[in-house]
Amino acid sequence: MDPATALRRVAYLLERERADTYKVRAFRRAATTVDATDRARLEQLAASRRLTDLDGVGDTTARVIAEALAGRTPAYLTELESSTWLTELDPDAKRIRSLLKGDCHSHSDWSDGGSPIEEMAAAARDLGYEYVVLTDHSPRLTVAHGLNAERLARQLDVVEEVNGEMGGFRILTGIEVDILEDGSLDQSEELLGRLDLVVASVHSKLSMDAGLMTARMVRAIESPHTDVLGHCTGRKLVGTGRAQSKFDPDEVFGACARTGTAVEINSRPERRDPPQDLLQHALDLGCVVTIDSDSHAPGHFEWLDLGCEQAAAVGLADQPERIMNTRSADALLAWTASHD
Ligand SMILES: [Zn+2]
Ligand SMILES: [Zn+2]
Repeated sequence: MDPATALRRVAYLLERERADTYKVRAFRRAATTVDATDRARLEQLAASRRLTDLDGVGDTTARVIAEALAGRTPAYLTELESSTWLTELDPDAKRIRSLLKGDCHSHSDWSDGGSPIEEMAAAARDLGYEYVVLTDHSPRLTVAHGLNAERLARQLDVVEEVNGEMGGFRILTGIEVDILEDGSLDQSEELLGRLDLVVASVHSKLSMDAGLMTARMVRAIESPHTDVLGHCTGRKLVGTGRAQSKFDPDEVFGACARTGTAVEINSRPERRDPPQDLLQHALDLGCVVTIDSDSHAPGHFEWLDLGCEQAAAVGLADQPERIMNTRSADALLAWTASHD
């Protein structure tokens, strides 16, 4: 294994276990340095134990590089391969996972993700997907560097360019648009209409009165631009956690069923949203779903496994046609186009 590949794999595995971005960045930065340094020079530095002279290379990254140069799998990498292993899927979840053709919710370093668009796309492609929808945040989410109209328009051009170099894999354009307090969407109609897929999510005032929250969500779902309702309860399961938002599930999921808006099964380990009872409720009302990773780094795409478990638990292995990302990119686009 060459040293840069080893460093990137370490970063990927750290992401898989939700490591802090700064810790991951050190490995990705070191990989970039290694890319720019010729092999003879690396070997010379390793022999004299001076790899840390290189820009962005510290003790841990130097050890990984030295072991890879010596033809060994770095010990740290071996340890991470097993310690960050997610889960052994049961047969139903495995079946669902094998049917997924893409991921409808991901972030790049244009908003609060940690990696460039091309690296995110390459990671999704390497997992065997046919497409990934890039859904960076909308402007109101300033903490996440949400994209204003001008930056989003620029991103569309960049996606077109990157797509030309992906060898058949497709990056679909999209947004995770904030559902504002009154239920309107945080981006211009014109731009929302140009995107392949729109995920609409609540990120603020999560604990508002249930009646108001219901009206807010229903208005957003009824927008012809909205294709997917993102992480509908907003709950967080780790750290201090966050309680579920309260809303009337008959009204909200009824609106999803009526408008053909998918209810997202958000796979992030700290979200796993919606909880099983609400997901069952949505299915009982006739909703379709997407299973999304909400990736903010390449190592997060594997979280789709967790969403597949959620889906299997409510019997979706027998109804894969209700999971919109089991569709090919063209069929997915036909579905989203039927909304706007
Ligand atoms: Zn979100
Ligand atoms: Zn997101």
